[in-house]
Formats: sequence, structure tokens, C-alpha cells
Amino acid sequence: MKIAVFSTKAYDRQFLEAANSPAQHELVFFEPRLSRNTAILAAGFPAVCVFVHDLVDAPTLKILASGGTRLIALRCAGFNNVDLQAAADLGIKVVRVPAYSPYGVAEHAVGLILSLNRKIHHAFNRVRESNFSLTGLLGFNLNGRTVGIIGTGKIGLILGQIMKGFGCKILAYDVYRNAELEQLGGKYVELPELFANSDIISLHCPLMPETHHLINAESIAQMKPKVMLINTSRGALIDTQAVIEGLKSRKIGFLGVDVYEQESDLFFEDLSGEIIQDDVFQRLTTFPNVLVTGHQAFFTEEALHNIAETTFANIADVEQGRSCPNELIYQPEVADKALVS
Ligand code: NAD
Repeated sequence: MKIAVFSTKAYDRQFLEAANSPAQHELVFFEPRLSRNTAILAAGFPAVCVFVHDLVDAPTLKILASGGTRLIALRCAGFNNVDLQAAADLGIKVVRVPAYSPYGVAEHAVGLILSLNRKIHHAFNRVRESNFSLTGLLGFNLNGRTVGIIGTGKIGLILGQIMKGFGCKILAYDVYRNAELEQLGGKYVELPELFANSDIISLHCPLMPETHHLINAESIAQMKPKVMLINTSRGALIDTQAVIEGLKSRKIGFLGVDVYEQESDLFFEDLSGEIIQDDVFQRLTTFPNVLVTGHQAFFTEEALHNIAETTFANIADVEQGRSCPNELIYQPEVADKALVS
């Protein structure tokens, strides 16, 4: 099958080409993101392969459909960038890679927690400048602290398992309970209780209308003083302006984010030497107790291998008329979990 791969980086090409050797699909790699302006590049391609910042909205899908595209293969888990209703109306199937790096993302969240707590990002710079003073590097023991996990699917559960190993108490909130987390000793509570009792709050739920700006001025007001907030899920779960106010008032003691609401203008590109126009992002990076990484939580060798393998397995299912376990079916009024057939 002819497959147009958008938002291609060298590492995507390396792993996709390696996984394509049995099937020998005709892969054409495009560096630009998919949008209504670039969709014309996919004319004549039955399949299009996209990542998190490709905009697969209704106008883009119409252009793709008129060019003969019948399949969108997401090489990521989140699908908030795809208009599933428009795809269904146009007869375009959408498949995704639901679990390519749950350990990678959970471990990255732990990396943010440890770095912020023990101020490893500051220590790294100090020691390189022969400054061996400990002043300002005081941390706290994770043992005995309470971690609140919002969204206890694949990644949230693994974070719970890891933090349990540190000797933390686990509070959880999800619209569905995960029995494995409860067996671990995790306790499901309503959000206000989680906010009020957690020393560390980590977000692992999908971005949906119900979770948009889940962390806002009102929820921050309910949190413990000096709370640590971690977001490796999707940027718009957090109202960044409210978090900046929380950091300024010192209510929020630490912020670790791998995702940012307006990240599509910044992340995955080398903008060194450019003038960044996003004043909110620039303000965020001035705080000493804020650590931002550029959507790299998933970025492990294992993840890129799994993404490539699953993407071609999904494409093979659709090409050969089999039912694909990773197809996203548009079902209005149904919760996120039920969207996956
Ligand atoms: P998952 O589907 O296994 O788990 C998501 C959980 O969120 C589910 O248990 C679901 O019931 C729960 N949920 C749904 N609605 C909720 C709500 N309103 N409130 C609380 N919980 C709710 O997904 P996962 O693989 O654990 O991934 C979690 C998120 O991580 C994804 O949505 C994706 O956005 C993000 N992600 C980020 C990266 C990265 O590199 N930073 C990589 C992969 C995934």
C-alpha cells in the first residue's frame, strides 16, 4: 500500500523502515505536519500515517478523502487531534497505537518527580560551575508521601506500582476503577479528596471536554500548600495561566510537565536562536521549581519499535479486511473507553 507519512523525523523513518521490511509498503516521508494546507501531498495515497501534532480535522479529512485516502494510521495513543465523526462520515477508517510506551511515560513522570524534588536540574548546572554548595537543594523523602493519580489506565497504574515501591500512599481518581490499582493498596476517592490530600498529583487521563482544564484556579485552591503537579498526559488538562498564578503565590511548590497546551507551535522543533513568541510558556520556564520537557515521555527505543510494529499490523488488518482491535469507532455520547472497538 502507498502510505504518506507526515511529521517525519529521522527517528520515525529509521524505525518505520525497519518494521516495513516484511510488508514492503511504499512509504513516502513528508516532514511537514498534516493540515488542510498540506493534505494535498497525500493525493493518491490510500493510507496516511500521522502523529500527535498533525491536525486531522474535517476540512483536512475532506481533502484526503477526495485524494483517495481511506485510512488514517495514528502512530500515537491520543486521538484528540482527529475528527472521528468527520472521518466516519467520509468512510475513512482511523486506527491508533493504544499502548506503545506505558512504562516509558510512567518512568518519565517519576524522572520529573525526582528531579524536581531533589533539584537535580539545578545540581547539574552548579557542579559544572564548581559550585558544591547545598543551599537551596533541600528535598523531601518520597517514602510516606501521598501521590494522587488522576486516570488509572495503563500509565497511571504503572506509576502507582512504581510509587508504591518508594513507599508512597496512593490516592486515585478515574471514571472506571482499576482492580489492579486497588490490589496495590491504591484508594479511589473523589477529586476534591484527592486534591486536598496529595503531596504529588500526576495526570494520566485523556484530554476530552470533561477533562479540559481539569487543573484550574478552583482545583488548585483545594490542593495542599507546596503541592507537586506532574503532567505527562496532554497540555490542555492544565489551565497554564492558573498554574502560573499558583506558582507565584507558592501554593504550587513544583511543576513538572512534558506537555503544554500550545505545544504544537514549539515542541519537536529546534527553535534555538529563534525569538519565542509564546509569553505564557516563557513565563513558565522562568520559575526555578518548574521543569519542562518537550513531549519526550514516550521517547524510548522500545516505544518507537512498538509504534512501528503496531502501525503496520493495524494497516495490514484494514488492508486485508480483518477487524482491527485498534480501530477508533465514532460513537457519540459514549465515554472515552468505549470509543475503541
Ligand atoms: P488509558 O486509556 O490506558 O488510561 C486513561 C485512563 O483515563 C482510563 O482509565 C480512563 O478511564 C481514564 N479517564 C477517562 N476519562 C477520565 C476522567 N474524566 N477523569 C479521570 N480519568 C478518566 O491511557 P494511557 O495509555 O494510560 O495514557 C494516558 C494518557 O497519556 C493518554 O491519554 C495520552 O494523552 C497520554 N500520553 C502521553 C505520552 C507522552 O509522551 N507524554 C505518551 C503516551 C500517552
